[in-house]
Amino acid sequence: ATPTAVMVATGVGATNGILIKGGDALERAQKIRCVVFDKTGTLTKGKPSVVSTWVFVKMDTADFLSFVAAAEASSEHPLAQAVIDYTHHFLGYDAPAYLTPDSSQVIKAKDTSWLKKATAFEAIPGEGLTCEVEGKKIQVGNRKLMFENGVEISDSIEDYLQGVEKQAKTAVLVAMNGVLAGMLAISDPLKQEAAVVIRGLNSMGIHCVMVTGDNQRTANAIAQEAGIGDVKAEVLPGGKVDVIRELQENGTVVAMVGDGINDSPALAAADVGMAIGAGTDIAIEAADYVLMRSNLEDVITAIDLSRKTFRRIQ
Ligand code: ADP
Ligand code: MG
Repeated sequence: ATPTAVMVATGVGATNGILIKGGDALERAQKIRCVVFDKTGTLTKGKPSVVSTWVFVKMDTADFLSFVAAAEASSEHPLAQAVIDYTHHFLGYDAPAYLTPDSSQVIKAKDTSWLKKATAFEAIPGEGLTCEVEGKKIQVGNRKLMFENGVEISDSIEDYLQGVEKQAKTAVLVAMNGVLAGMLAISDPLKQEAAVVIRGLNSMGIHCVMVTGDNQRTANAIAQEAGIGDVKAEVLPGGKVDVIRELQENGTVVAMVGDGINDSPALAAADVGMAIGAGTDIAIEAADYVLMRSNLEDVITAIDLSRKTFRRIQ
């Protein structure tokens, strides 16, 4: 394409909230044959919320939740905020809401003085966390974390767990002093446009893949809702790059769409990296495209724009 055509296309992109970092990125997008989507925050809204809790030991739910929230207070995982918000509400500590001076936004005061104190906190990437609260050893995370620490999951609890996962929810397990004490089901629904976008990409001859650190059953359920048949689940942080490289092996031009810190190596490794505008700065920096509106339809718009720009002059 002529420099003018590239400039025009870049301008059209910008008008649609699609920032394109250079002519090379614009040109590569027309050749995309495979799009890899991160799950949390990319295909899903990225605002997880607790939908159910189960306590398996003699402890009331409020008490149970106060231990879990204390443990999650030191975590930066999106699931942690969901647990804290839910507990905050459950315990009746709902803080007053404030309007910003221009009345455009409601701000909820986050009072965390009610939280119990956690010590010896340790995050375990891809699995969860461990810490101590009021002399109890608390472990919060997935099946793998429990398995590796010898926390037994009975058959009947395993049934519950699988039920939660089949409903596309993430099960968060909680062990206290080495005994499975309870479980939370956390839901993070798909973005409204996700299924339509996947169908659109498929009709453009583009293969779609979902990649996530979440468990296989939850991932499959979400992917099914989105209409994605190819799922890479239980991918450890850092493993997303390997997924991209594998897909590129036979020369396929692969795009990655992601929002998180742990997506940035994959965004850089992909032939075209597309960051969600609402994502982290590190992802935005690593990407060739930034979708400012955080709307997945812009993945199609971006590819279309490239196809049209370069078809015209061929
Ligand atoms: P993802 O961001 O795709 O969920 P991660 O590698 O961050 O991938 O986490 C993988 C899994 O580990 C999560 O789905 C969850 O089951 C568990 N996990 C990680 N951190 C936490 C946490 N702070 N609380 C509860 N579970 C966690
Ligand atoms: Mg994400």
